[in-house]
Amino acid sequence: MATNRVDSWIEDRRTAGVVRWERVREEERKEREREERERDRCVVCMTEGREVICWPCRCLAMCNPCREALAAQSAASTHRCPCCRRGVDGFSRIYVP
Ligand SMILES: [Zn+2]
Ligand SMILES: [Zn+2]
Repeated sequence: MATNRVDSWIEDRRTAGVVRWERVREEERKEREREERERDRCVVCMTEGREVICWPCRCLAMCNPCREALAAQSAASTHRCPCCRRGVDGFSRIYVP
Protein backbone atom coordinates (compact mmCIF):
# COMPACT_ATOMS: atom_id res chain seq x y z
CA MET A 1 0.00 0.00 0.00
CA ALA A 2 2.67 2.39 1.09
CA THR A 3 4.66 1.66 -2.06
CA ASN A 4 1.63 2.39 -4.23
CA ARG A 5 1.15 5.73 -2.54
CA VAL A 6 4.75 6.63 -3.17
CA ASP A 7 4.45 5.49 -6.78
CA SER A 8 1.37 7.55 -7.39
CA TRP A 9 2.97 10.50 -5.61
CA ILE A 10 5.96 10.23 -7.93
CA GLU A 11 3.60 9.89 -10.90
CA ASP A 12 1.76 13.03 -9.77
CA ARG A 13 4.97 14.96 -9.39
CA ARG A 14 6.09 13.80 -12.79
CA THR A 15 2.81 14.82 -14.40
CA ALA A 16 2.97 18.18 -12.66
CA GLY A 17 6.49 18.63 -13.98
CA VAL A 18 5.42 17.82 -17.52
CA VAL A 19 2.46 20.15 -17.28
CA ARG A 20 4.70 22.91 -15.96
CA TRP A 21 7.20 22.28 -18.73
CA GLU A 22 4.45 22.38 -21.37
CA ARG A 23 3.29 25.68 -19.95
CA VAL A 24 6.81 27.14 -20.09
CA ARG A 25 7.12 26.04 -23.70
CA GLU A 26 3.74 27.57 -24.52
CA GLU A 27 4.86 30.87 -22.95
CA GLU A 28 8.11 30.79 -24.91
CA ARG A 29 6.24 30.12 -28.13
CA LYS A 30 3.86 33.03 -27.51
CA GLU A 31 6.77 35.29 -26.68
CA ARG A 32 8.54 34.31 -29.88
CA GLU A 33 5.40 34.88 -31.94
CA ARG A 34 4.95 38.28 -30.37
CA GLU A 35 8.55 39.20 -31.16
CA GLU A 36 8.17 38.02 -34.72
CA ARG A 37 5.02 40.07 -35.15
CA GLU A 38 6.76 43.15 -33.79
CA ARG A 39 9.76 42.59 -35.96
CA ASP A 40 7.78 42.97 -39.14
CA ARG A 41 5.67 45.87 -37.90
CA CYS A 42 6.47 49.43 -38.88
CA VAL A 43 8.72 50.96 -36.19
CA VAL A 44 6.73 54.20 -36.26
CA CYS A 45 3.10 53.12 -35.92
CA MET A 46 3.66 49.48 -34.82
CA THR A 47 0.57 48.38 -36.68
CA GLU A 48 1.25 48.32 -40.41
CA GLY A 49 3.70 46.00 -42.11
CA ARG A 50 7.10 47.34 -43.15
CA GLU A 51 7.24 48.18 -46.81
CA VAL A 52 9.56 51.17 -47.22
CA ILE A 53 13.34 50.99 -47.28
CA CYS A 54 15.39 54.06 -46.35
CA TRP A 55 18.48 54.91 -48.37
CA PRO A 56 21.39 54.84 -47.92
CA CYS A 57 21.11 53.00 -44.60
CA ARG A 58 18.77 50.40 -46.13
CA CYS A 59 16.67 49.96 -43.03
CA LEU A 60 13.36 48.36 -43.86
CA ALA A 61 11.57 50.13 -41.06
CA MET A 62 8.40 51.86 -42.11
CA CYS A 63 5.01 51.42 -43.68
CA ASN A 64 4.05 53.62 -46.58
CA PRO A 65 1.54 55.83 -44.65
CA CYS A 66 4.28 56.66 -42.13
CA ARG A 67 6.71 57.42 -44.93
CA GLU A 68 4.15 59.79 -46.40
CA ALA A 69 3.52 61.39 -43.01
CA LEU A 70 7.27 61.85 -42.53
CA ALA A 71 7.62 63.33 -45.99
CA ALA A 72 4.71 65.69 -45.36
CA GLN A 73 5.95 67.04 -42.03
CA SER A 74 9.56 67.83 -42.88
CA ALA A 75 11.75 68.86 -45.79
CA ALA A 76 13.37 66.03 -47.70
CA SER A 77 16.85 67.16 -46.65
CA THR A 78 15.99 66.69 -42.95
CA HIS A 79 14.52 63.21 -43.22
CA ARG A 80 15.99 60.78 -40.76
CA CYS A 81 15.64 57.05 -40.64
CA PRO A 82 13.34 56.20 -37.70
CA CYS A 83 15.47 53.16 -37.07
CA CYS A 84 19.10 54.27 -37.06
CA ARG A 85 18.57 58.07 -37.20
CA ARG A 86 20.86 58.53 -40.14
CA GLY A 87 20.01 61.07 -42.79
CA VAL A 88 17.85 59.65 -45.54
CA ASP A 89 18.41 60.46 -49.21
CA GLY A 90 15.44 58.57 -50.45
CA PHE A 91 12.90 55.84 -49.89
CA SER A 92 12.00 52.76 -51.85
CA ARG A 93 8.74 50.99 -51.48
CA ILE A 94 9.09 47.26 -51.68
CA TYR A 95 6.54 44.71 -52.76
CA VAL A 96 6.46 41.28 -51.33
CA PRO A 97 4.35 39.21 -53.68
ZN1 LIG B 1 3.74 52.96 -39.91
ZN1 LIG C 1 18.30 53.34 -40.96
